[in-house]
Amino acid sequence: MRFEIEEDNRILVRRLERVIRDDRVSHAYILEGDHCIDKKAFAESFVKGILCPKHLGENCGECSICDKVDHGNYEDLFYVAAEGSSIKDAGILAVQDRLKTMPFGSRNVVIVEDADTMTQRAQNRLLKTLEEPPGRSVILLLSENIENLVQTIQSRCVKYRLNYFGTSGYDSMLEDAEAVVQLLEQRAPFYQIKEKCDKITKNREDTEAFLDSLQVVYRNLLLQKEGRISFLKDDEIADAIHQVEAARKQIRQGVAPSYAIRNLMLKIGG
Ligand SMILES: [Zn+2]
Repeated sequence: MRFEIEEDNRILVRRLERVIRDDRVSHAYILEGDHCIDKKAFAESFVKGILCPKHLGENCGECSICDKVDHGNYEDLFYVAAEGSSIKDAGILAVQDRLKTMPFGSRNVVIVEDADTMTQRAQNRLLKTLEEPPGRSVILLLSENIENLVQTIQSRCVKYRLNYFGTSGYDSMLEDAEAVVQLLEQRAPFYQIKEKCDKITKNREDTEAFLDSLQVVYRNLLLQKEGRISFLKDDEIADAIHQVEAARKQIRQGVAPSYAIRNLMLKIGG
């Protein structure tokens, strides 16, 4: 699949390609990612992968459907976005009306931009659609912070987090995260770990990218990819992933990134 931000999300892209080829596309997805990530572009690439008649799973970028999606005028693709500061009930009502119509092609697809801004009423209305999704329709919710969506919506969607590896790029950020994980494994002195972290996380974006990378490193350890065997136990790795998620939450709630990272390192290293 050709994704604009493929480089930052290799693992996820491969997974989505498989889902499409195996005809296991779900009715609803939440694509979560920081504000700096072009979630709409990622969603559109996914949509092309689903709908492209030429090469299922890997949008060709040449057929009339791919072309129309690129130009925002594909008949079966419907967008809803915030009007003013929120997506209101009427916005989701329009989605429901749209999903009642027959698609021209294989299925209707809805992209809900700014899904975080849905009012309570709008979320309740959307929930009804998610409970009884019409036909082969697909709904993609784009979110900066999944916690803004009610639990009942979250539980009915397949959730993916889009990674962002900042200006330093995928490989170097992963290398840095790997180095930190190794320091933690070796129980290196805390000042050493902190010094390394301070170098990597100079601003909020880099901090988010670092957290994303840490999760990739730990997940790879859990799957024993890259041929590296860790002397951490599986539950220790799972706990580390959980702690990374907790740090991300703290930062969203307004905790200073440097403080959250320091805390995280104490917890994983402790
Ligand atoms: Zn195509």
